[in-house]
Amino acid sequence: MTANQQRLDEIKKLLNKYSYEYYALDQPSVSDAIYDSLMAELKQIEAVHPEWITPDSPTQRVGSKLLGGFNKVRHPRRMVSLNDVFDRSEVEAWVKRTDKLASGTQHDFFADIKMDGLACALIYIDGVLTQAVTRGDSFVGEDVTANVRTIKNVPLRLREAVGFEDFMHGRTEIRGEIVILKRDFEELNKRQRSAGQPEFANPRNLAAGTIRQLDPALVATRPLHFRGYDVIRDDNLDIPTHSFAYEVLSVLGITRNQQASVFADLDGVMRFVDEWDKKRHDLPFNTDGLVIKLNDRKLYDDLGLVGKNPRGAVAYKYAAEQATTIVKDIVISIGRTGAATPVAVFDPVQVAGTTVQHASLHNADEIARLDVRRGDTVVIFKAGDIIPQVEKVLTELRPTEAEPIDFPVELARQYPELEFVRPEGEAVYRVKGLNSSLILKRSLTHFASKGALDIETLGEKNVEALVNAGLVGDLADIYLLEKSQLLDLERFAEVSAQKLLDAIATKKQPLFERFIYGLGIRHVGAQTAIDLAKHFGSLDELAVATIDDLRKIDGIGEIVAESIVAWFADEDNIKLLEKFANIGVQPVIQESGDALVGQSFVVTGTLTSMSRDTAAAKIRSLGGTFQTSVSAGTTYLVVGGKVGASKLKKAEQYGTKIIDEQELLQMLQK
Ligand code: NAD
Repeated sequence: MTANQQRLDEIKKLLNKYSYEYYALDQPSVSDAIYDSLMAELKQIEAVHPEWITPDSPTQRVGSKLLGGFNKVRHPRRMVSLNDVFDRSEVEAWVKRTDKLASGTQHDFFADIKMDGLACALIYIDGVLTQAVTRGDSFVGEDVTANVRTIKNVPLRLREAVGFEDFMHGRTEIRGEIVILKRDFEELNKRQRSAGQPEFANPRNLAAGTIRQLDPALVATRPLHFRGYDVIRDDNLDIPTHSFAYEVLSVLGITRNQQASVFADLDGVMRFVDEWDKKRHDLPFNTDGLVIKLNDRKLYDDLGLVGKNPRGAVAYKYAAEQATTIVKDIVISIGRTGAATPVAVFDPVQVAGTTVQHASLHNADEIARLDVRRGDTVVIFKAGDIIPQVEKVLTELRPTEAEPIDFPVELARQYPELEFVRPEGEAVYRVKGLNSSLILKRSLTHFASKGALDIETLGEKNVEALVNAGLVGDLADIYLLEKSQLLDLERFAEVSAQKLLDAIATKKQPLFERFIYGLGIRHVGAQTAIDLAKHFGSLDELAVATIDDLRKIDGIGEIVAESIVAWFADEDNIKLLEKFANIGVQPVIQESGDALVGQSFVVTGTLTSMSRDTAAAKIRSLGGTFQTSVSAGTTYLVVGGKVGASKLKKAEQYGTKIIDEQELLQMLQK
């Protein structure tokens, strides 16, 4: 069994357990968003491997096994479930599919708000309520007639109306949702509180639990409410469209949503989606989305089912604030105060409308509390603009080889050259001997250095003065310096202050690779910065690169990739990049020559015509690679004065060509 197949099996097992708790026991142990997220993953795996689909897969089944206590009733027409879609592109894909299947026909769409309750079928014979049946497993439901009779807005007899007499003869089935309205639910919980009784968790569970009570007298005390969404007759052609079915519901005295409407195309449907996304919280009942159907019932029926779902309808789900994903890695970022912050890196996932691919785990205690490990399936929570958080681990889906995280061991692995301390009473590990002022001075000196932005006169001394005077709190602050501030400092006079400001101003559009290098991301030297700049082309692309993306670049291994991802996941760094952008600091890409592409150079000994740094910059600007020591892939060893014999020997050993400064100059002039 492959790892993928094993995961599929585990997800199936877990979803079946969740379904049982939700449908049979009315006691879900997880939210719908978690269920939906795992279901989406299951569907994805099954789409790639249809041969793995089994009849017991939750994608093939509706509801769960029925509990005892009620008579079982077979539905003459199956009570199906709906396929979920989560965004405009998925609605669009569905519209395109149905357009194709129904080509040559004029077809409207019918959309209604999806009520979050439980489905129930009311059977009227000659206009009289004779039976009420839950959806059950879609084929067979439970006879809950005695309980449904207590629901005040369910008519025991359909209303007679001129022109609709046919519905009073024979069998008329009304399908709809049993819900508890929000205000009734609040009222009920208020009563529970004042009676010292425990409060109910949510209206849907209470409605579902209530309808399966064996005592109708108790049911009558709970404010159940019914809303219809379909009318079924054996002679179905009496009801040509879903919109007409809704008219019939009203005429027969059945409560239904007034918001439901007909739309001619996708744009109309999407306007309805957007409108109710904003207004849904004001509805009297809970909703998690919309139901969109083909309005023409014959067409709808002709398209039939795929698995348990009709082809002619979808359930549009509004963005959930929770989702599940897999922890790819746990990396550690060292922030501007020297604090070591663990960050979980995920398979990218949509939460509350945005893509999330990492979340801070804050500190070692939080890792221990969550017991989160590499390979774990986790629940991510994100509401609106709130920063995403790891809520919990679904331990049922943990791979057997997942090891607990030992934070000090991780620190030593990811930062072997640093020493960390955890101050008494603090949850955070910090780099020993570093404080935020020292870190800022070092990073600003590096940012301004020759290899990075090369800001003239912003050397160690000036950096020291600016930081000590509190004029810069981060790298971006140098662009906000004003002359009067500098003149207040002893080090500066009119000319020197102006010189520094001019030097900084000329570096507002730094070269992209120099900017990346200047950020001081651990393990990202000048060559790696160039490779990253070439590969990603923009800061936005680099910022969302995954460890797998990064590892595709030659010379970037696990530790370097982790360090880059950790840097871009750090909230302080994200803010810093935003600040650069707001100030107008815009890294630019320079088209480099390509004369030296694929060739690598090591310079040994002193060059007479230029410094080693200049040689490196020129080699890189022509697409070549500059290395610090000879290795198996090195193309040229450039020999300056005074060269040790060992270097030459190594070059010979690797078949590296040995050239002199003159030959290098010729290559650079091409
Ligand atoms: P579904 O999402 O497939 O939707 C179909 C149902 O929508 C219909 O049967 C009908 O009852 C209802 N509906 C509401 N308003 C409607 C309207 N205006 N028009 C037509 N139909 C309308 O329903 P389902 O099969 O019950 O699906 C699964 C739902 O249950 C999911 O939202 C899932 O998250 C939840 N669930 C949760 C758990 C858990 O553990 N939390 C477990 C299982 C299922």
